[in-house]
Amino acid sequence: MIDEADRPNFSRRSFLRTAASCALFLGVPSLPAPATAQGEKKGYIQTKLSPYFRTLENQKIQCQLCPRECIVGIGRRGFCGVRENREGQYYSLVYGNPCAVHVDPIEKKPFYHLLPATSSFSIATAGCNLRCKFCQNWEISQTTPDETYNLDLSPEKVIALAKKSGSRSIAYTYVEPTIFFEYMIDTARLARQQGILNVCHSNGFINPGPLKELCKFMDGANIDLKGFSEEYYQAISEGRLAPVLQSLKILKQEGVHLEITNLMIPARNDDLDTVRKMCVWIKNELGPDTPLHFSRFYPLYKLRNLPPTPVSTLERSRQAATEAGIEFAYIGNIPGHEGERTHCPYCKKVIIFRQGYTVGEVHVVKGKCKFCGKPISGIWN
Ligand code: SF4
Repeated sequence: MIDEADRPNFSRRSFLRTAASCALFLGVPSLPAPATAQGEKKGYIQTKLSPYFRTLENQKIQCQLCPRECIVGIGRRGFCGVRENREGQYYSLVYGNPCAVHVDPIEKKPFYHLLPATSSFSIATAGCNLRCKFCQNWEISQTTPDETYNLDLSPEKVIALAKKSGSRSIAYTYVEPTIFFEYMIDTARLARQQGILNVCHSNGFINPGPLKELCKFMDGANIDLKGFSEEYYQAISEGRLAPVLQSLKILKQEGVHLEITNLMIPARNDDLDTVRKMCVWIKNELGPDTPLHFSRFYPLYKLRNLPPTPVSTLERSRQAATEAGIEFAYIGNIPGHEGERTHCPYCKKVIIFRQGYTVGEVHVVKGKCKFCGKPISGIWN
């Protein structure tokens, strides 16, 4: 998932309140807080009819947004807790009421090949369609909008605040954005009209129909590829691998800039043979120029009994990725590690220096390596 810097130092209640108040501007110092984003209210809900459900007998519905395809009776909600059957119609309860709003460095998403050193106006509502035991944002992902402190923030207000903050992109992030699909796509449509990029950090657990619709407005996606076996997905997140692989292929086919994050958890998904298989799949199906982030795990949520990922595990995985032909393999969550840098895959020189979320020299000019002139995949202008 995302956003390690949100994790420590907050009680659950203070996290929810500060997230909603927009007062926390991480990693991008000296940006003014948006003046019109005050006044969060606990349990503030706004609804929108979902376009993605079908009607069954006895006014039950079946949601068609994500591969769970929940069947929901009248007055009940789906697995994600943010969609409700009201008299046989299915409604989103998170349209325009985000509980987390920040301006982040784009590197925090993480995107390393998309407008480096710019800020991204980042939003999330409550809820998620997975149950990851390691979730870094469980305070908002594993609850419902009734419990969080939410803002009244229409898509138009999001655009206005993003512009005011100087952000070059809007990020749909922190929780699985599929669950606030209607809010995301309406905001993304407006952002596109205003020349602001749209990016998301997602678990990729979404059905092909809505994903293809979203791809019309999404410029970049960082997808969590949590592991490379069905057993692992089921055990760690109550999800499935196959739909995520399908989403990755669709994003690639639809021309969305794609980066992948693999959170490495000791003794859970760090088997080197499996990592190699994953890298070969990425290279063959998505291309060798797909940036791959091996991210360090820290004990959290339901996996507090495990140690942090050893640095050597991440280094071995990165080496395996490089040997498999992945051109841009990174190590994340270890500020200052050499694995944060971008090397040109042709001349091997360092073309982007990073330390944590801080970007140093960038030697990519008009999408090409400044030293050898070869193209570097990404969105650079
Ligand atoms: S989006 Fe929510 S309600 Fe719809 S299928 Fe997925 S988990 Fe169920």
